[in-house]
Amino acid sequence: VAALALAGCSSDRGGSTGGDESGSAGFAADATIGIALPDKTSENWVLAGGLFEDGLREAGFKGDVQYAPASNTVAEQQNQISAMVTNGAKVIVIGAKDGKQLGTQLQQAADAGVKIIAYDRLIENTPNVDYYVAFDNFEVGKLQGQALLDGLAERSGHEAPWNIELFSGSPDDANSAVFFNGAMEVLQPKIDDGTLVVVSGQTDIAQTATQGWEAENAQSRMDSLLAANYADKDVDGVLSPNDNLARAIITSTKQAGKDISKVTVTGQDSEVESVKSIMAGEQYSTINKDTSLLVEQTIKMIQQLQQGEEAEVNDTEQYDNGVKVVPAYLLAPVIVTKANAAEAYANNPNLLDIVNQAG
Ligand code: BGC
Repeated sequence: VAALALAGCSSDRGGSTGGDESGSAGFAADATIGIALPDKTSENWVLAGGLFEDGLREAGFKGDVQYAPASNTVAEQQNQISAMVTNGAKVIVIGAKDGKQLGTQLQQAADAGVKIIAYDRLIENTPNVDYYVAFDNFEVGKLQGQALLDGLAERSGHEAPWNIELFSGSPDDANSAVFFNGAMEVLQPKIDDGTLVVVSGQTDIAQTATQGWEAENAQSRMDSLLAANYADKDVDGVLSPNDNLARAIITSTKQAGKDISKVTVTGQDSEVESVKSIMAGEQYSTINKDTSLLVEQTIKMIQQLQQGEEAEVNDTEQYDNGVKVVPAYLLAPVIVTKANAAEAYANNPNLLDIVNQAG
């Protein structure tokens, strides 16, 4: 167990061999590891739970995987994390529901010597988060912005200016601003020079937010935007931060009688229904953030901590949580459109099947 998958980690290994004894700084090789995931607002969270169960078991740990329920989510996640500390978890991996509301629980964890890894979403305003592991989410935003521009040129059937609308994620998720700012780094200059026109005028993150990442909220906002601004105009594109919201935006746009094959809608997560939609020529793009790679990297970090080492990171600058810059291990996201889907999903039999069936 001790030797599992430690290749590539940082240089100075302590002499600790793990085994069944806690080393001076490490912990038992069969320790309990808590995994606190948010509600299941997208497929990646569902996949992560199963992958953590299997991966932790294979690595010799006892996994304690919990989801925050759909109602009373923040309070329930706080309770789950407290219970993990009380029950003796050595590391707790957290996909936060609201990354600003875990200060008390993480202080409790720090006092008990529990290491905290923020998973996919940064945890803010606390010194007690040891590591962050995620896909490079600013890059995700930039890729979404660029995909929107590419799609407009490819399928709108006319030259610029193009009419667009902007959506962002839930305000309680630190990622929402990261995605939006990444996208706006690409889009803002094109708004400024008149290439893009946000017909509603709603360009700031508060106006574009989608509370709870709920599809119904995106759909009703899109309904209103179309009714108020597009009765006699085409909407050429929509920046959508993820797949679940993209499909809601597409539903709304089709219901308003627009030809969806000409509209560019971005996404993220490579959800099954969105990959089908892309192959059918409806949704334009998604992002591949392969959950199995993210879980694998997280388990590698846990193994390094078990050995009494620091976990390997590759970014010590980008993720300031308001109290400190959290050392991060960032993986590279991949943009996916119909054109590169077969290549992008070459290692994912399930998605590859969908691509191949669509021909
Ligand atoms: C994740 C996205 C996901 C969204 C909604 C974000 O924090 O990074 O992949 O689509 O949450 O669940």
